[in-house]
Amino acid sequence: MTRRRWIAEHWDEATATIDGAQAEHLARVLRAEPGMEADVVAGGRVFHAQVAAVSPAGAECEVRFNLIAELEADPALPVTLVLAIYKFDRMEWAIEKATELGVAAIAPVIARRTEKHLAQAAEKRAERWRRIAHEAAQQARRSDVPLIHYPASLASRVQAASAATRIVLAEQERTTTLRHAIAEAMTASGDEMPALEFAIGPEGGWAPGEEALFDANGWRAASLGPRILRAETAAIAALAVVASCLE
Ligand code: SAM
Repeated sequence: MTRRRWIAEHWDEATATIDGAQAEHLARVLRAEPGMEADVVAGGRVFHAQVAAVSPAGAECEVRFNLIAELEADPALPVTLVLAIYKFDRMEWAIEKATELGVAAIAPVIARRTEKHLAQAAEKRAERWRRIAHEAAQQARRSDVPLIHYPASLASRVQAASAATRIVLAEQERTTTLRHAIAEAMTASGDEMPALEFAIGPEGGWAPGEEALFDANGWRAASLGPRILRAETAAIAALAVVASCLE
C-alpha cells in the first residue's frame, strides 16, 4: 500500500511536524489519529513515519510524526530552469509540470519581451509559485521541493558565475540539439551528469541583444526541434530530454 507523503516544515533526528494547509487536510479531512502511518519528507530525506500527535480542533493546526526509518530518496534532476516571465497562468502550469518532472530549481527572469505589468507583479507572485511547487512536489511524491528563486533581471542571471553547463533554448538554432549538447556535457564531465541550467524565452522569444548576451557569457544555444513550441511546452520537452539521458 502506498502511504501518503507529507513535506515537513520542521524536523529533527526523531520527529517532524507539518502545519498550515497540509496539517488541516490531514487532521480535519483525513481525520488523522496517533499511530496512522505515512511517508514524511524532511530536509530532502524521506522517512517511514507514524502520527504521534494531532493538535486539537480550533488550535493552530499541527501534526507531529515520529520518524521510524529512512527510505530511499529519488534525487531531483540536476537542472535549474531559467524561465523568462510570461503570462502567469501558463507560467504556473510550467512550474507545476517542471516540478513533477524533477527540476531542482526555477529562476524566474525579466526578459526584454516580458510584459511590464507582469515584471512589476512578479515579486508578489513568487510566494504563489512556491506554493504551486510545494503542492506539485507532494503530488509527485518527490523527496524535495524545487527552489524557486526571486525574480531577477535576465542580465544578472546570464552574467552570474556558475559551474553549471548553461544552455539557452533557441527556436532558430539549427545545428545543436539539446540531446547533443547534454551528451557533450556528460562526456566533458567524465560521463557524470553535470549540473545544467536551461534558459527558456518569453512569448515573443529572445530579443537580438539577449542572444548576444548569452553568447558573450558562454551559454550554448540548443534546439528542441524544427517546430516553435510554447514556452511551457519547451520547458517540459527539455526536462524530458534530460530525464531520458539520466533515468
Ligand atoms: N519567438 C517565437 C515566436 O514567437 O516565433 C516563440 C518563442 S517561444 C513561444 C518561447 C521560448 O520557447 C523560446 O524563446 C525558446 O526558448 C523556447 N522554444 C520554443 N521552441 C523551441 C525550439 N524548437 N527549440 C528550442 N527552443 C524553443
